[in-house]
Amino acid sequence: MVTIAESLERLHRSIPGEVKIVAVSKTRPVGAIMEAYAAGQRLFGENKAQELVQKQSQLPKDIQWHFIGHLQTNKVRYIAPFIGLIHSIDSLNLLVEVNREALKNRRAIDCLLQFHIASEQTKFGFSPGEAGMMLDSENFRQLENVRITGVMGMGTFTDDTALTRKEFRTLYGYFQSIKSRFFYRDDAFREISMGMSDDYAIAIEEGSTMVRIGTSVFGSRSPVR
Ligand SMILES: *Cc1c(COP(=O)(O)O)cnc(C)c1O
Repeated sequence: MVTIAESLERLHRSIPGEVKIVAVSKTRPVGAIMEAYAAGQRLFGENKAQELVQKQSQLPKDIQWHFIGHLQTNKVRYIAPFIGLIHSIDSLNLLVEVNREALKNRRAIDCLLQFHIASEQTKFGFSPGEAGMMLDSENFRQLENVRITGVMGMGTFTDDTALTRKEFRTLYGYFQSIKSRFFYRDDAFREISMGMSDDYAIAIEEGSTMVRIGTSVFGSRSPVR
């Protein structure tokens, strides 16, 4: 049996120090998160608002929580007081809501724009054209309590590493073009969240700054019944 601490140590050896590791703790009990915490992990990712709020209330306050799943506008208010980064902004509507709740909490919330890079229909995210239109809009310019710090994407669920690499390269290209068009003087815009347990090595070769790792930290999730 490999412990969570051993898994984290192994990951840290294979991932360059400047690439952040988000330990994806969705479906994991608080005890498993505490094990990772005891091994020094402070960055955790969750994909359900209720589950995140529950865990956040029970766990140490110096954990930085990231939201990585599809976020419904009516759930934003639950996580707005404490969320460190929302990886999954996929509409202006959602960003407006995050801004509103951030303002209520007298804070700014960091966000990534999620792009659709996979060949599957079901994955959420902007196209480059949609993101450009939003970033160009007056509505966007009025949002003073959100800060866009980069992009996020999920590759196709596949064994075809060439396809995965191509999709990550596409996301890197989107990052570069948005950076040069909208954020060229903004040092905060610098994150590329891509790579999971099965494909983080490729993602890092293609420029990832943040990998989201569940299974390789906590072991395989129990099958859905
Ligand atoms: C579950 C999840 C991950 C982690 O997946 P693993 O294959 O367990 O590493 C990463 N990103 C998102 C958006 C997820 O939902």
